[in-house]
Amino acid sequence: MSTLLEVSGVSVTFDGFRAINNLSFSIAEGELRAVIGPNGAGKTTFMDIVTGKTRPDSGRVLFGEKSVDLLRLSEARIARAGVGRKFQRPTVFEDQTVAENLMLALRAHRAPWRVLFWRPKPADHARIAELAAEVGLSDQLPRKAGELSHGQKQWLEIGMLLAQEPRLLLVDEPAAGMTGPEREHTTDLLVSLARSRAVVVVEHDMEFVRRLACKVTVLHEGSVLAEGSLDHVTANPAVIDVYLGR
Ligand code: ADP
Repeated sequence: MSTLLEVSGVSVTFDGFRAINNLSFSIAEGELRAVIGPNGAGKTTFMDIVTGKTRPDSGRVLFGEKSVDLLRLSEARIARAGVGRKFQRPTVFEDQTVAENLMLALRAHRAPWRVLFWRPKPADHARIAELAAEVGLSDQLPRKAGELSHGQKQWLEIGMLLAQEPRLLLVDEPAAGMTGPEREHTTDLLVSLARSRAVVVVEHDMEFVRRLACKVTVLHEGSVLAEGSLDHVTANPAVIDVYLGR
């Protein structure tokens, strides 16, 4: 499969501390990947770099078949180029219905320069139905987002991100705070999302990573420590040392 994201030789220093240290790895088109690592490993900083929030001191982050260097683009242009990010806490509009939330997301995507004059067309209503179906919220469209469960809010926010038609979705600890059935739905959702776009899941919860059954990248001190299946990386003595803090 062709490469979608290529991170090469990226370093970031905060006040003399190297949070990301010559980081290199790549994500293929349509791949599901879990990024794990102990606290402070650089997982959040990695997502901040790819989305343009943090500018590295060196390196390149190439995206898509034209190898656009994301480090040259603003945060807004990176999002428009096809990188979506799901933060840990859901940020939906609680007083609006599920359908209205999805409509707002669609409007923001369709008409960044003409938001005030935009009116939904029949195709937009159809798209909203599709987005709701994709995240499993078809029967919740008329409900206020504030009435949804924690898990449903997370799925709604993923649906809102899908309105941007991302080719790469970065998802931060998607199962945190979820009930058992919600976690199962989230696993299925991420696996199914990765059929039509690449999905990178940053996660602490090993049981959840195991269910994703995907390739895993272990970060430590801002570099890749190990890569492969979860069984492969967790059998690696260096990974065991890092996780047991030896
Ligand atoms: P993770 O998400 O894996 O827990 P982070 O990317 O948040 O790790 O952090 C990596 C390292 O960089 C940590 O040691 C953290 O304290 C440090 N760090 C992150 N952001 C900043 C910042 N803005 N200023 C100073 N240090 C930072």
